[in-house]
Amino acid sequence: MNNSTVSVPWFEKEKRVFKNPLNHHAYIFEGVEGIGKTVFTLEIAKGFLCNSLPGAEACNQCQSCRLFDQFNHPDFYLIKPEEDKKQISINQIRKLQEPLYESSFLGSNKVFIINPLEKMSREASDSFLKNLEEPPENSIFLLISHRYQTLPLTIKSRAIKVNMNQPDNEQIKTWLNLQTDHKSKIETALLLSKGKPFVAAEMVNFEIDDLRLDFIKDISELIKTGNNLLEVSEQWPKDPMTMLLRLEWMSDLLMDCLRHRFLPGQNLTFQDSDSISSYLSQHFESDNFFYLLEKTNSCWNLFNSDTNLRADYQLQSLLVDWIESVGLAR
Ligand SMILES: [Zn+2]
Repeated sequence: MNNSTVSVPWFEKEKRVFKNPLNHHAYIFEGVEGIGKTVFTLEIAKGFLCNSLPGAEACNQCQSCRLFDQFNHPDFYLIKPEEDKKQISINQIRKLQEPLYESSFLGSNKVFIINPLEKMSREASDSFLKNLEEPPENSIFLLISHRYQTLPLTIKSRAIKVNMNQPDNEQIKTWLNLQTDHKSKIETALLLSKGKPFVAAEMVNFEIDDLRLDFIKDISELIKTGNNLLEVSEQWPKDPMTMLLRLEWMSDLLMDCLRHRFLPGQNLTFQDSDSISSYLSQHFESDNFFYLLEKTNSCWNLFNSDTNLRADYQLQSLLVDWIESVGLAR
């Protein structure tokens, strides 16, 4: 592999930021989830650990690079919420103090990735702040954030922000073509994943068509009878990634209802739910769609932010709104 290329090619520009040796110890990589921030940050980490090349370049040949590739580098620490835990705990930050203040095993940098930063508990965050304020020598913090705006100012002000932008569709398409043999699914995945290549890749390799079919089945049943309310409220939140997507599809369906009403003849976002959207547009007032659009979008925001909500209750309350506003059996 050429040293200057990254496996997430749309971040070439961001990679150049790290080309020369930098004199800072903390970076926040911020951007939406599903675009490859973690993959990119791991590559930067490997570069900072490599002894042979300056900046965040990795030679891919030295002992450090080899150990990193084997997930076995003694000066590399990846901190994320422990299994079945929602947050990064104060204990996890305490465990870092020893390696932070001791010299590195391989005589080069020590690199700490925190992923994602907003998952730190309040106590963990307070404790970590002290490390940021008085950074130990040769320690570099690579901090990943999907929700930069929610981070404490005290932390933000001590790290350099690196904006990670969403790639465009052409870039995602080229990349997807290298990731999968299921070429026929690429267009659908591109449309459904909304500019998130890693979500698209997951869709291409899994059963995206089935997911969409299930969604249409669930939503028509909900509108027709409402009988599946409890089942859907329990099932959907079990997979957080597709949960957000389903909520987006609900908004898209409402937008298509409004298109039928106000912009007849204009292309719908989704043809496969045309029978539902055209039926609804003929039988309900646009106020109902606007109302549900607002409810659905705020539910999406809730799921996308990290409050300790009971997901099934939140979804259930939204679905009740749907049944009351556009249900046929009400
Ligand atoms: Zn190396």
